[in-house]
Amino acid sequence: MFKPKKSLGQNFLFDPTLLIRIIDAAQVTSEDTVVEIGPGPGRLTELLAHRAKKVIAVELDAELHARLKTGLAGYVNVELVNMDVLEYPFEQLEPFKVVANIPYYITTPIIFRLLEARTKLKSMTLTIQREVAERIVAPPGGKDYGVLSLSVQYHTKPTLQFVIPKEAFRPMPKVDSAVVRMEIREKPPVAVNDEKMLFKIIRASFSQRRKTLSNSLKPLIPECKDLLIQANIDPMRRAETLSIEDFARLANLIS
Ligand code: SAM
Repeated sequence: MFKPKKSLGQNFLFDPTLLIRIIDAAQVTSEDTVVEIGPGPGRLTELLAHRAKKVIAVELDAELHARLKTGLAGYVNVELVNMDVLEYPFEQLEPFKVVANIPYYITTPIIFRLLEARTKLKSMTLTIQREVAERIVAPPGGKDYGVLSLSVQYHTKPTLQFVIPKEAFRPMPKVDSAVVRMEIREKPPVAVNDEKMLFKIIRASFSQRRKTLSNSLKPLIPECKDLLIQANIDPMRRAETLSIEDFARLANLIS
């Protein structure tokens, strides 16, 4: 009997209706190479194998990987890889989509790693904690909006597809999940001279959310008050009220 490892975020989904809804949300076709992160017992993998041209399933747990090798032996279009997904060389692949119910202890590292490999990535459809999904799609103005929302929205068009209640997983996790589809943008939604500067400003602005922008930005840019005024942004505003266009205007003035 296999005993799920909590430390590896092993909460499995078995309901075929839900798994098919995930694959439908990802818009997988017979032309697609799909990377699945953490195939676990392989239920989603098997359904993906029927839909996609090729499935690359990257699993860290050697015990599960060995089981998959036997269980999925009949599928010639499935490649099983036993490694940490954060080490996987995505850049060497042909264009691909990611479809996965990911291990929650590394949700943001996985998203940032995939954004780094975005030249080859077409879209990622991830089952993640509902609260993180809500942060990803959040518009300006609320408490969910922050560095994660801006980073993902700058590189992708994210849409929250549907919620999966925690009761659907075995073992049951503490929180509900949601499926988010993030389609990689051909170009960013705003023109920016220096992306590194843009994200430096965004991170500094949100480093102390309760503070005004001029206070949060002062350590990074001592003359920020004048620059904010020049960018048509009231220095007394808080970071969460700024749109990506506001941040881009400010970054372009600075760089
Ligand atoms: N896809 C399966 C499902 O939906 O039932 C399993 C999902 S489970 C939430 C996450 C899976 O990711 C587990 O199988 C776990 O062993 C695997 N995993 C955990 N850390 C990993 C890592 N760093 N790299 C690759 N796989 C990992």
